[in-house]
Parts: sequence; C-alpha cells; structure tokens
Amino acid sequence: MTEPSQLPADGAPPETRLVSAVALSDDELEQLGAELGAKPFQVRQIRHWIFERGAKSWDECHNLPKVLREQLKARLPVRQSTIETIDDSDDGTRKLLLRLGDDESVETVIIPEGDRLTLCVSSQVGCPVACIFCASGLDGVRRNLRRGEILEQFLHARDLLAEADLGQTKARFSNVVVMGLGEPMLNLRELNPALSRLTDPDGIGLGARRVTVSTSGHPVRMREFAGTDRHYGLAVSLHAADDGLRKKLVPTAKASVQEIVDAAQSYGAKHNREVTFEVVLLDGINDDSRAADALIERLRDLRCTVNLIPWNPVDRIEDLARPRDDRVDAFAERLRHGRVNVTVRRQRGADRSAACGQLRLRSL
Ligand code: SAH
Ligand code: SF4
Repeated sequence: MTEPSQLPADGAPPETRLVSAVALSDDELEQLGAELGAKPFQVRQIRHWIFERGAKSWDECHNLPKVLREQLKARLPVRQSTIETIDDSDDGTRKLLLRLGDDESVETVIIPEGDRLTLCVSSQVGCPVACIFCASGLDGVRRNLRRGEILEQFLHARDLLAEADLGQTKARFSNVVVMGLGEPMLNLRELNPALSRLTDPDGIGLGARRVTVSTSGHPVRMREFAGTDRHYGLAVSLHAADDGLRKKLVPTAKASVQEIVDAAQSYGAKHNREVTFEVVLLDGINDDSRAADALIERLRDLRCTVNLIPWNPVDRIEDLARPRDDRVDAFAERLRHGRVNVTVRRQRGADRSAACGQLRLRSL
C-alpha cells in the first residue's frame, strides 16, 4: 500500500500529468489563447464553452473559427475523463464511474434528497488513510486527482442533469460535497483550484457555502485549508472521541482527537461556520453509551453538529456490522440529552454498491 509520504510531491507520476482545458486557470487560458493568436473575446468564449455550456469537444464550440478549433484540438482535449458506467439506485441516487486518461477510475455520486440535489466528488484514486470500515482505502491510494479531474466530475454530472429528468425542473446542483474516494486534505494543491473554479462567480458560480469538504482529520492541513478565502463547509470524520477507540477505526491517524477538534473549531471560527463531526456507527464497536458519553464530554458547548452515519456494508469487509435502527436512535437520543446537536444520515443508494468506493471496487 502506498503511504501519503510515498506519493510524489505533486501527487501524480509524470505519465498521468495529462492536462485538459478545464484544468487551466484564467491566466493559462489567456496564455494559450495568445499563443494561438486568439482574440481576448475568443478566450472568453472558450471559457464560457468549457465551464458554463459544458462543451466536451472543441467541435461543439461552433462560434469559434474552424482554424482555432483545429489548433486547440491539436494542443489539448477539453476534458480528460469519460463516463464509463452509470449505476442507478431505486432511491434516485446515481453513481458515475469515470475513466481517467491513464486508465484509473473514480466515482462521483448524484444524490437527490427533498429539494436538495447534491453531488459527491472524489479527491484521490483510492485512499491512503485505510479506515477499517471503508471501501475506498482497501487497496491503498493510486494517486492524487488532478484539478481538472476533480472538476470534470462536476461537469459530467451536470451534463446528465441536463439530459435526465431527476424529478426536478431545470435541475441544478444545490450542494457539492467532497466525500467520495480519497482524503481531500492530502490533495489540497489540486483541490483548492478545482473548488475555486466551481465557486467562481463569473463561471460555474456555485456558492462556496454550498460546498462541504470532509476530512478524516489532518490538523496541519485543516489549518492550511482554513487559509482559503472562500467559506466552504468542513466536515470532520471523528467516529470516536476516545483516542484508543479512534485509532482502531482509523489506524493510520497520527493526530489526537483533541488536536483534530481544535483544528475544526478554529476553521469554524475563521469562516463563521458550524463544523460537522461525522460518526460512522459500527455495531458493538463505537455505538454504545460509553462512546456517546465520550463524544458529549468532548463536544458539548462547541458550535457543531454530529452527523451519525450507520455503516453501509462493504463487499470485502466481513467482520463489521451495521447497528440496528433502535441502537442508532438511542445513541442519537443520548447525544441530544447531553446537549449535542445530532442528525442521522440514513442509507442512500442502499440497494447497490452503497458505500463510497464500492462501484470502483467492483470495476477493478
Ligand atoms: N476521506 C474523507 C472523505 C471521504 S469519506 C473522510 O473520511 O472524511 C466520506 C464519509 O463517508 C466519511 O465520513 C466516512 O467515514 C464515510 N464512510 C466511508 N465508508 C463508509 C461506509 N461503508 N459506510 C458509511 N459511511 C462511510
Ligand atoms: Fe479514506 Fe475517508 Fe475512506 Fe477513511 S473514510 S479510508 S479517510 S475515504
């Protein structure tokens, strides 16, 4: 298995450093335009085509001169990933498996819920953190996703919304959560530019407050992430407030629970946002009254909400079980009684490849 430190500094081996037009910053687009002799308004048209109109190929950009389109084609593709499979669940969840330029794959998931339409995106191919209950980390991490590959998950999913009727008219994503494959804090270099593009008011225009990044807790990186000027939401996968128990669930974790909670609170204070602590509940492991009381002790009086997630079974993990609903309810009730805000996330996409990372696992 590859540890985070073994990944090349920029996260991707040279052969995977493929660039698509969606990966380019405004400056890089301008530079490309200048090299090809395009006028500034044509550069603006290119930008509009790839981010707002969602063009997949240069041929679609019909108001660009043919010569320019041919030059662009010779230089780089618009996107570097394609949708390989779409997996629909009965509850409306749609999982897309994307094939990347170097033949790796990642998942992105469309989750309709009431009047919200959320997209869950991946940040790495696999995950180095290896939480004992998670499909994404079972085979370690292959590489970091490039910024374009993170953005393309959104663009592909948005294309589908335009095509499919998801029970909404003029469906748009109300939220984006970085909760797919991978540990986002270990790929901030690529994640940050991708999120800036997503929330660019002159482009895709998603509100930063509608973007939530979930981390298994890397305090130094969390503090670095707090330095961005946009007010993204932060969710922290705590799972247990006791260091010994947490270490069983997240064996590679180096930071203590207190360090993680402190970094989370400092993020919340800086961005004036309530932080969410996620707790994946595993039967007989972290779902008893002692575990609940430890969370109360640590989180009471903090500005936060605990999101309880009863574990979704994973194909290759046989020694864990999802707690019964009444145990989950009792756990939630105990936290509430201890003056901790609680929500419970029931299963989504439950009928097929429910847990994050499973669709990719099955395709391997
Ligand atoms: N690596 C980040 C983000 C991706 S995981 C993190 O761990 O926060 C997103 C969330 O899904 C995390 O809270 C994680 O604990 C949870 N999760 C992973 N596998 C799960 C499973 N099989 N059932 C329920 N939740 C799971
Ligand atoms: Fe990685 Fe998050 Fe899965 Fe843990 S839960 S293995 S950090 S993706």
